[in-house]
Amino acid sequence: MSYVDEIFARVKAQNPGEPEFHQAVEEVLESLRVVIERNEEVYRREALLERLTTPERSVLFRVPWVDDKGQVQVNNAYRVQFNGAIGPYKGGMRFHPSVNLSIMKFLAFEQTFKNSLTGLPIGGGKGGSDFNPKGKSDREVMAFCQSLITELYKYIGADTDVPAGDIGVGAREVGYMFGQYKRIQGVYEGVFTGKGLTYGGSKARTEATGYGLLYLTREMLKCNGIDIAGKTVAVSGAGNVATYAIQKAWQMGAKPVTCSDSNGWIYDPDGIDVDTLIEVKQVKRARLTEYAKARPNSVYHEGKGVWTTKCDVALPCATQNELLIDDAKALVANGCIAVCEGANMPTSLDATKYLQANGVLFCPGKAANAGGVATSALEMSQNSERLSWSFEEVDAKLQGIMVNIFHSLDDAAKEYGMEGNYVAGANIAGFLKVANAMLAQGVV
Ligand code: NDP
Repeated sequence: MSYVDEIFARVKAQNPGEPEFHQAVEEVLESLRVVIERNEEVYRREALLERLTTPERSVLFRVPWVDDKGQVQVNNAYRVQFNGAIGPYKGGMRFHPSVNLSIMKFLAFEQTFKNSLTGLPIGGGKGGSDFNPKGKSDREVMAFCQSLITELYKYIGADTDVPAGDIGVGAREVGYMFGQYKRIQGVYEGVFTGKGLTYGGSKARTEATGYGLLYLTREMLKCNGIDIAGKTVAVSGAGNVATYAIQKAWQMGAKPVTCSDSNGWIYDPDGIDVDTLIEVKQVKRARLTEYAKARPNSVYHEGKGVWTTKCDVALPCATQNELLIDDAKALVANGCIAVCEGANMPTSLDATKYLQANGVLFCPGKAANAGGVATSALEMSQNSERLSWSFEEVDAKLQGIMVNIFHSLDDAAKEYGMEGNYVAGANIAGFLKVANAMLAQGVV
């Protein structure tokens, strides 16, 4: 049996009941097969894949807190420190009822490669809890965050593990967690990223994922002889990533014509108006039907359908598994030339394969949405320096990082005979840096 297949079997046997983790390991290692086979003897002797697929540390703990009625509630919480070969663990905290160990391990494993791709010194980690912040009062959210940190503070720190936000964890939650850490430890250090601008947050962090997505998309198109200016862009989502992707698309001379939320989607023949979108979704926290009222030329459709729009470039920026095989067929039929993932895992595997087989340039989220974590790493640098860089400085660094990410995955794909396969390129480039650091550091 090949080394890769042995590792699949081992991961399944040693981590029963963790389907998301199995899937992530399988998807990554499958695309690394050619690289691993080239170095199989060394990797086997060093048990590199066994180590790469086993978290360095997983912390599981209970979080007791008191709700507004005086009732004690108990949630499960996790922090998976997957791989610290190239830097302190870095990855968000997710508060959502679906959170379990399998999902934490899948995300922390993937984060290792994404962080490596940024070229910055950050290892892979992820954490969270099955706590649901929806419908909770501010006091309840604070009580929960403080209780969580009262246990987690032992395992995190500016040079050990630096969490951030993710689903259900925004500026409010990061603020409460940071405050409690500071109180317990008695030190003011950059232990969280995604902080408010008055207490160590980085300028341009809000825009970073959407802007970074466009910087990478432009570079990918340019390297394939295509100018993004004048292109029609279909975007899904209407949240943080989608909004700033739409804004940057305009700035590059492209025309974003769609956006969506969990109820329906908008087609605006004049292009999506960013100010109206921000007013509707961020200020009023309303549905997209309000956008249609404010922009009479636009059309609101109930349900799904963004990918039926004729476009040159598609940017899925909403959620996982939102671009399925029929969507991929519609995009190809309408002449789409590129798909870049703003969200995490928005495209199903069969849809990805269909797009690639039909000549659509496809960049996976691991690379295309890495601008968020990259800017978080820039926030860590600013905190260490006790400095705050200007928006322009951070944005310029972000641009450089996204261009470099594209070239490292493009080069890796070419080196291993898979030119144009950016999915394989991203996994290979992310893996090689981590693997080489692990080998250099000995059996640890
Ligand atoms: P937000 O919560 O700000 O926005 C998500 C948007 O997607 C909302 O408009 C939401 O609609 C919509 N949406 C959610 N579920 C569905 C669904 N099932 N069908 C259609 N639309 C849906 O999240 P972000 O923009 O921050 O994140 C989007 C994606 O990008 C996620 O996959 C996230 O993990 C990923 N990502 C985000 C980063 C960041 O820095 N923010 C960094 C890297 C990845 P509604 O308004 O109705 O809730």
